[in-house]
Amino acid sequence: MKSFATRLIAWQRIHGRRDLPWQGTRDAYRIWLSEIMLQQTQVATVIPYYERFVASFPDVRALAAAPLERVLEHWSGLGYYRRAHHLHAAAKTLVERHGGAFPRDAETIAMLPGIGRSTAAAIAAFAFGARGAILDGNVRRLLARHRGIAGFPGDKKVESELWAAAELVLPQRDIETYTQALMDLGATVCTRASPRCDRCPVATDCIARLSNRVAELPSPRPRKTLPQRAVRVLLIERAGAILFEKRPAAGIWSGLWSLPELDVDADIETLCKTRFATDVVVGEALSPIEHGFTHFLLTIHPQRITVRKWASRAEAPGLVWLTRDDALSAALPSPIKALMRRV
Ligand code: SF4
Repeated sequence: MKSFATRLIAWQRIHGRRDLPWQGTRDAYRIWLSEIMLQQTQVATVIPYYERFVASFPDVRALAAAPLERVLEHWSGLGYYRRAHHLHAAAKTLVERHGGAFPRDAETIAMLPGIGRSTAAAIAAFAFGARGAILDGNVRRLLARHRGIAGFPGDKKVESELWAAAELVLPQRDIETYTQALMDLGATVCTRASPRCDRCPVATDCIARLSNRVAELPSPRPRKTLPQRAVRVLLIERAGAILFEKRPAAGIWSGLWSLPELDVDADIETLCKTRFATDVVVGEALSPIEHGFTHFLLTIHPQRITVRKWASRAEAPGLVWLTRDDALSAALPSPIKALMRRV
């Protein structure tokens, strides 16, 4: 039987994806950007974001020179904003320490902010033809099934088994085609919910298929109930505009514009007086929004507020009044942007 890699490479040449906007280039910057955008995000969602991003920031230097605020605006709606912060920080590092060019080896690439071992190997493979194993979510699933590796892939021990399996099947040549094949096969054939084993080039020796365990592998994350948090956000309106506050540099949604926030049982009028020196009328409570983070679930309770008496303190740095339309194109967290669409 031909090797795992040989079968994947042959499959890729016929069935793989070749027309994505970040393919057919050796430009490490574009490859890096696509790899970061594709983490936790589907290809179809990424394409328009990727195209807008490269149109505005065509290379590492342009990204490094851009204000973070502008980068976040281009990321707004993609979620997992830490990725955008890291991209920006890594672009600056590349300019300051590497003359604006990408290092050619995966180990040095992996030292940049926000680039893990798998992403570094993918960039080095696609940009420089460097031989190295990748292990993104799709590849974990594919290898867990094909090699019959049980256990949650996020578990350290299982993860090292998967890395070892990924290293073992690595070909000596055609690393770019092979790397793309792993990604494409995981994304289009060995999918999470409905794997198409009848179209799979490595079905004949797939342990999960042969032992009838395709639906069981990879093992799911051990069940754990996520903690719940709740917060109230204020839709403070004045003369057709809404008040936004810059989120702190650390914590969730860092650096984005969001609505002023307070504990659900805090007194709204007192808060507006102390924080903005403003008299307000508390209006309608809008239906709550549920938003899931990796480590907790957040219920957001939006509350309409009308300003009765205005004080200049609310013009302070870190605060901005935006019309609804302007808010829709600003760097807002996705649940707040969704709220803007319905108010
Ligand atoms: S045979 Fe099925 S389960 Fe096994 S690798 Fe192929 S698609 Fe995945």
